[in-house]
Amino acid sequence: MPEISGVSGHAKEFTIKDEPVENLRPLRVVVIGAGFSGIVAAIRIPEKLRNIDLTVYEKNDGVGGVWWLNKYPGVACDIPSHSYQYSFAPNPNWSNLYAPGSEIREYLEDVAEKFGATRFIKTSHEVKECAWDAEKKQWKIKVLNLATGDIVDDTANVLVTARGQLNEIKWPPIPGLENFKGKKMHSGAWDPSYDFTNKKIGVVGNGSSAIQIIPSLQRVEGTSLSCFMRSPTWISSSFGDYAMIQLGLDPKATSFTEEQKKKFVEDPEHFLKFRKVFEDDGNSIHDSTIIGSTMQTEFQAYYRAAMEKTLSSRPDLIKTIIPTFAPGCRRLTPGTGFLDSLLQPNVDVIHDGVTSIGASSVVLTSGREIADIDVLICATGFHVSTAPPFPIVGRDGRTLADRWSPLPESYLSLAVDGFPNYLMMFGPNSAIGFGSLTKILEAEADFVVRVVRKLQKDDYATIEPKAERVRDFTAFVGKYFANTVYLDKCKSWYRSEGGTGDRIVGLWPGSTLHALEALRSPRWEDFVYESIEPEGGNGLRWLGNGWSTTQTTGDPSWYINPDEVEMPYGKEPEENPQFKARPWSY
Ligand code: NAP
Repeated sequence: MPEISGVSGHAKEFTIKDEPVENLRPLRVVVIGAGFSGIVAAIRIPEKLRNIDLTVYEKNDGVGGVWWLNKYPGVACDIPSHSYQYSFAPNPNWSNLYAPGSEIREYLEDVAEKFGATRFIKTSHEVKECAWDAEKKQWKIKVLNLATGDIVDDTANVLVTARGQLNEIKWPPIPGLENFKGKKMHSGAWDPSYDFTNKKIGVVGNGSSAIQIIPSLQRVEGTSLSCFMRSPTWISSSFGDYAMIQLGLDPKATSFTEEQKKKFVEDPEHFLKFRKVFEDDGNSIHDSTIIGSTMQTEFQAYYRAAMEKTLSSRPDLIKTIIPTFAPGCRRLTPGTGFLDSLLQPNVDVIHDGVTSIGASSVVLTSGREIADIDVLICATGFHVSTAPPFPIVGRDGRTLADRWSPLPESYLSLAVDGFPNYLMMFGPNSAIGFGSLTKILEAEADFVVRVVRKLQKDDYATIEPKAERVRDFTAFVGKYFANTVYLDKCKSWYRSEGGTGDRIVGLWPGSTLHALEALRSPRWEDFVYESIEPEGGNGLRWLGNGWSTTQTTGDPSWYINPDEVEMPYGKEPEENPQFKARPWSY
C-alpha cells in the first residue's frame, strides 16, 4: 500500500503508515535453552504474540535443562515439588513431596508437549556465538548442529538466553586431578552405566548435590566412601515439614499414595488448598533471611537441635559439620538421609582440605593420603552468574564476559546496557533462597513477551536498559544483601568471585513476592530505544492508519464479550477477594 502523506512541520515528510494500530510487524526471536525458563518462554511467546518466528536452541538431546542433565543417584527436588512446577500446570501425580529428577524431567517434557512448546525447540543444537549487527539491528547467531556437525547461521531481532545457572560444570582446581587414573565423574556429568558395587569412592563437596549423592552411594553393596567436606553445612528439617503438619500429614511420610493422588485429581479445590499451604509456607519464611531476625534465630536453634540429635553418637561430626554461619547463607537443603549416612561404618567424613590428587589417591592438607580410590566424584558445583561459555558480543564489539568483569551487572536480572534486544531468563540475581523460583521464571517470560510486543507494536528497532538504571540496580543489590544471611561467613554459589566474594550475584534482592511485583509491569522509562522511523519523521508512526485489526480480521464488537468486560465487583469493592489479596493491583 502507498504511504499517506502531506503534513508539514517535520524535518522529514510526515507520513502515515498504512497499517492498523496493532502493528503485527514480523519479528524473529531466538531463545537459548529448553529448561524450565525456555519452555515457559516457548509457551507464552506464541500464545500472546502474533507474527513471531520463534526458535529455541537446546544443546542437549532432550528438554528439561538441569533436570535432563543431572542423572546422579538420588537426584530429586529439594523443595516440595508442589511448589516447584508451573502455576498453570499443577501436577497431581508427583510420587513424592521431593519428586525424583526423572519425574521432573518427564513433567517438563509433558508440559512442553501439551502447551505446544516442543514444535519450536531444536535439540542437539549448541549456540556457539551471538553478535549484534548494529547496521541490521539484529543478532547474528552461530549454531552447531551436534547431530550433523554443521554450523548454522541464524539471525534474530530479539535474543533471549534461558540457559539456567547450574549447567556449566566446575571441576575443582586441585593439582593432579588430571592424573587420576580411576573413574572420574562430576555430579552434573554423570555416567549412569558405572557400577559402584564394591568400589572405594571419593566424594568432593557437600553442597546440595553431594548431600543427595552420598546417602545413595552409601547404600550400594560393598561401597566405602571418603567424603571430602572442607566446609560445614546446615541440614534443615524438610522445607515442607511445617506445611505437612498443617495438613494433618506425617512430615516423614513424603511419598503420596494412589488414593491421595486420586483425590488431587478428583477434587481440584482440595488440591489447590494443599498446594497453597506449601506456597504460603515458602513465602512466609522470608524473614529468616534477615540477619538477627527472630525467625532466623529460631530456625538456627531448631536446625541445630535436630542435627545434634541425629549426630548424637558422633560429637566429632557435631563439632565439624554444624556451621557457625547463619542457615540460608549457603543453599539450605533438607538432606533426607544425609546425616544418617555419615554415621554408617562405610563412610569416612574428612574435613581437611585436599591439596593434591594422585593416580589413585587424594592427599590432604594434613599430609594424610587416602589411597586406592576407584572412583572420584566431584560434586563441586557450577560456574554461576558468569557470561555464557560462548561469546555474546554487544554494541561496539564489547563482549558480555568483558561487561561482566568483575561483576555480572544487570537491569532487574533481565537485561544489560550495551546489549540491545537481549534478554535473560534466570540470569544473575534471579534465583531465590526461599519461596517459589518457578513463578519468578514465569514472570520473566511475561516480561520478555511485553518487551517483544513493545518493539513490535511501537515500531522500535531496539530496546536496551539505561546504563544508569543498571548501575542503580547493582547498587540496590549491594545494599539490600548487606543485612542478610547470604553475606555471612560462608562460601556459596550465590556469591561473587566463585563463591567467596562480598557481592551476591545469584539471588534476587528480595522475596519471591517482591520479584513478582517488581517484574509485573515494565518501567519503560528505564530503557532507551531506537525507532525504525528515521530521525525527524513521524514519532507516532505506530498509530498506523486509523484502523484496528478488530475491524477487519477480528471481532468488531469484542468489548462487550463477557470475558472481555471487567465487571465491577459491586457496591463494596473492598470485599472483592482479589482486591483483598492485591489491593495495589492497578
Ligand atoms: P555447590 O553448592 O556449589 O557445592 C560445591 C561443593 O564442592 C561445596 O561443598 C564446595 O566446598 C565443594 N568444593 C568445590 N571446590 C572444592 C575444592 N577445590 N576442594 C574441596 N571442595 C570443593 O554445588 P552443588 O552441590 O552441585 O549445588 C549447586 C546448586 O544446585 C544447589 O545450591 C542447588 O541450588 C542446586 N541443586 C539442587 C538440587 C535439587 O533441587 N534437588 C540438587 C542439587 C543441586 P566449599 O563450600 O568449601 O566451597
